[in-house]
Amino acid sequence: MISLRNVDKSFSKQPVIQSVTLSIEQGEIHGIIGASGAGKSTLLRLMNLLERPDAGIVEFDGTDLTTLPKQKLRNVRQEMGMIFQDFHLVANKTVEQNIAVSLDLAGVKKKDRIARIEECLQFVGLANFSGKYPAELSGGQKQRVAIARALANRPRVLLCDEPTSSLDPSTTSEILRVLQTINQTLGVTIVIVSHEMNVIQSICRRVTIMEDGRIRKTVATEPTGVTEIESDAGWFLTQLT
Ligand code: ATP
Ligand code: MG
Repeated sequence: MISLRNVDKSFSKQPVIQSVTLSIEQGEIHGIIGASGAGKSTLLRLMNLLERPDAGIVEFDGTDLTTLPKQKLRNVRQEMGMIFQDFHLVANKTVEQNIAVSLDLAGVKKKDRIARIEECLQFVGLANFSGKYPAELSGGQKQRVAIARALANRPRVLLCDEPTSSLDPSTTSEILRVLQTINQTLGVTIVIVSHEMNVIQSICRRVTIMEDGRIRKTVATEPTGVTEIESDAGWFLTQLT
């Protein structure tokens, strides 16, 4: 579904991504793990061309995104939702307005917006929250709103950059369950970046390990399930040997 081939990216002549080749398959939950500065966020942003590669190809469903004109690229990006560690909600807008902004950008007609917003809020378990402001929500609720906003454009892929890194363990489990449900019931492909391998291990079928801008390896794993989340530093190390 998403395919990167021999991708390089530098910032101020400093290589950050080096000859990365990786494919994300339709329907999978794919984890990307690695130390701080390894290039995980950059890799994620290369997938929807928020960062342009200096060399190499980024394909979505067989289309090379690097050659697309702006409008077509915008359309493709609608199919790729994104969520972040710090939620990226607009503080002076309500939950409903936060989601409406992205529907507006996607060109969804006003008369269809309310129903879409309610449907997405219901999906993430926040049916009665449309009039609340972000400051009135817990971290987990904010992330649910961000997920609802990402879902509102009915994406086929969800790119998640450290979605649980500012949440406590039980809220982390809640959010991981939401992501798993989105994958299983809506068929949305998920890429999840994290530096916590227990998070990755709980829901991912394949895991890519990054080190200094390169892919060390991609391994198939058997997800442990969200209820069994616990720290297991040993697992990460055994994957490297
Ligand atoms: P973390 O776990 O801390 O989020 P990461 O693996 O996501 O780290 P990136 O954010 O991809 O790492 O950054 C990789 C390297 O690229 C870092 O050295 C960072 O300073 C650099 N970098 C990232 N974005 C930019 C940018 N826009 N301009 C300059 N340097 C950047
Ligand atoms: Mg990062």
